[in-house]
Amino acid sequence: MHRKIHGLTESDLFPVPCSLCGSTRSAREHRRGIFEYRRCSHCRFVYLSPRPTQAKLVECYQRYLPDREPDIDAWERMMEVVFSRAAEAATRHAGGGPGDLLDIGCAHGFFLSRMRGLGWRVKGLEIAKKAIGFARSKGLDVTEGTLADRPFPPASFDVVSAFYVVEHVWDPVEFLRDIHALLRPGGLAIVRWPHTAPLVRFLMALREDLGLYDPPWHLSQFEPGTIALAMRRAGFRDIRTGTGGWTRPANPSGRAISALGGRLAELYGGITGQLFPGVSKTTTGVRV
Ligand SMILES: [Zn+2]
Repeated sequence: MHRKIHGLTESDLFPVPCSLCGSTRSAREHRRGIFEYRRCSHCRFVYLSPRPTQAKLVECYQRYLPDREPDIDAWERMMEVVFSRAAEAATRHAGGGPGDLLDIGCAHGFFLSRMRGLGWRVKGLEIAKKAIGFARSKGLDVTEGTLADRPFPPASFDVVSAFYVVEHVWDPVEFLRDIHALLRPGGLAIVRWPHTAPLVRFLMALREDLGLYDPPWHLSQFEPGTIALAMRRAGFRDIRTGTGGWTRPANPSGRAISALGGRLAELYGGITGQLFPGVSKTTTGVRV
């Protein structure tokens, strides 16, 4: 059968081993249309396999981010609480003073603007051309490309952030290793990721996945254990995962559910010291 999703057919997809441990032993975790997620039998990491080539994905990304004004504004509002928590974490880690910050996958540059407002020297990295144009029109220094292009000298930032990027990258350990190399000793990585696997498992009992796994965009489905493993393998120490705020979707019911879930998750974490499944998480790690 030849179904096209985001311009992709089954013939564009190739199997890959586990990107965390290299094992090829895995079991099907989830299937949606032509896409399949596998759970590694060795380290429990969930990843998209088969998947499109990197070149094909970059092509698809030109149509990924919103480019209409109302949608861009909605995106800024959606990330507001998450950005504010991340800004607090960065400032706390820097001992109160501003430093040098890189935001990878900075999209329209809203986190950069916020940090620049706090006195930080900021740079962005992005692949979506229209979003780059928007960010540059706000006077932000945004480089087009990916970390694989080696766009910045090593050890040149105090904080490197990446919001909802790690689940998109081809090789998450390599991506985190590149972030590690860009940090100065003592520098902080702030990595935001969707914690979708428990929610999808619950929803599948009701025969509905709401498309939360979001193939082919999400190549990895992290859980607290596997993101910590990826961060450790990349060289990070003092790895912490927390709720880190919540998103505020444009539609009122989605916004209410997200805020309620986020507040409950923070409350639950505060009381039990455990992580609430199914809501996005922020993981931080330090370069020693
Ligand atoms: Zn594995």
